[in-house]
Amino acid sequence: MHKNFIDGVWCEGPGVRENLNPSDLSNLVGLYAQADSQQTQQAIQAAAYVQPLWAAYGPQRRAEALDQIGTEILARREELGRLLASEEGKVLPEAVAEVSRAGHIFKFFAGEALRMTGEHLDSVRPGIEVDILRQPVGVVGIITPWNFPIAIPAWKIAPALAYGNSVVFKPADLVPGSAWALAEIISRAGLPAGTFNLVMGRGSVVGQVLAESANVSAITFTGSTSTGRHLMQVAGARLARLQLEMGGKNPLVVLDDADLEHAVECAVQGAYFSTGQRCTASSRIIVEKGIHQRFIEAVASRLSEIRVGHALHEGTHIGPVAEEAQLRQNLEYVDIGQAEGARLAYGGQPLSRTSEGYYMSPALFVDAAPDMRIAQEEIFGPVACVIPADDYEHALEIANGTPFGLSAGICTGSLKHATHFKRHVKSGMVMVNTPTAGVDYHVPFGGTKASSYGPREQGHQAIEFFTTLKTAYTLA
Ligand code: ADP
Repeated sequence: MHKNFIDGVWCEGPGVRENLNPSDLSNLVGLYAQADSQQTQQAIQAAAYVQPLWAAYGPQRRAEALDQIGTEILARREELGRLLASEEGKVLPEAVAEVSRAGHIFKFFAGEALRMTGEHLDSVRPGIEVDILRQPVGVVGIITPWNFPIAIPAWKIAPALAYGNSVVFKPADLVPGSAWALAEIISRAGLPAGTFNLVMGRGSVVGQVLAESANVSAITFTGSTSTGRHLMQVAGARLARLQLEMGGKNPLVVLDDADLEHAVECAVQGAYFSTGQRCTASSRIIVEKGIHQRFIEAVASRLSEIRVGHALHEGTHIGPVAEEAQLRQNLEYVDIGQAEGARLAYGGQPLSRTSEGYYMSPALFVDAAPDMRIAQEEIFGPVACVIPADDYEHALEIANGTPFGLSAGICTGSLKHATHFKRHVKSGMVMVNTPTAGVDYHVPFGGTKASSYGPREQGHQAIEFFTTLKTAYTLA
């Protein structure tokens, strides 16, 4: 039984959760404690008490702790990758790459701990000096989703700790294994008790207490738009600092002058890999009319080569859907798309494999209209639709025509169109001749419109959320 880590102590909870492998439901990954609201309060109190001490440790010791955590994650990437693939269902190479990314993030923020810079100016009043200081925010509540069980926790926990904050971390119920393994590594990094707390449990219990507690100064969340809005109502109402990463409905524009083979790879990789369970996945593929027919034939043919199967089996390209409810939702959208009049050109069927799991074939819709539900609502599965466009301007208009704005891509040989798209597409990230999904760890991540709220995550810019400014005036 894997316990919660509260105030430096491993604690059983009132509840237990079974962590099952979506590639093989007969495989129990492990049993994980579920905390109640009282334990969550205890973690918050411990974090609030110790935070000034952690801040006073100074950048060198904080950097060393984060570097040690990053080193261990990287050294254990194969083992942790297997665990991640077992509980989430992404294929092993993707899972190992995600673990590596988490290790690199800790190492990046180890360096950032040493770069918590301020500014010094002369006052407009003679004889007075002004310092603009960066300080930790306090206790940071971290709420994460199931699709990146170690990378997303890493990119929130590492900067929080680097800049001297303490942490109460609530992972997604579905994937406590990677979170627990990460917490266990952090528990041995020499942080004072209470600086980092793992509180596994239900969103409506643990997450709700984090949202409500006056001792939690900031909440960083990645998940659904509805939960993001709820946090805004609860934590926003008490004026907590908020960083929300929510949905996407990311467009990939393919123009007539694109390299066909490369555009097909970008579309297939962006839409279907990781089982389409990435907030940056391409779910609307907007294709100019001259290349349209060749493109959809080539994508359908490429999809016929994709092997869907057990995440740990060699040769699998796409693993199962992570959970039953998500599989049901994906298949419902396949029905919705057909009822709306889009044509299902490939896949969209439940699959059976030698082990019982949540398998489905990647679904490709063609002849979709921009206002259809399958072209407007986030599905979060291996379901994408092709929307025909008359020309570049039309494609851009369609690309911008949803409430979301996380990532957007264009495949083109035209510098003019690529440059125009980079400037005018309404998204936080834009990709030219690369898939909409797949981002670096040392640069900002985030979106516009309903996709994101608050300052960017990752890169040096993460400092904006995880620190607060103080302006100090001194009579010299
Ligand atoms: P997903 O579709 O990724 O499961 P959710 O928004 O449901 O998206 O979940 C993302 C995270 O938010 C999870 O850790 C979940 O437990 C948590 N969560 C869910 N409901 C609440 C809530 N009412 N308050 C705080 N956190 C919540």
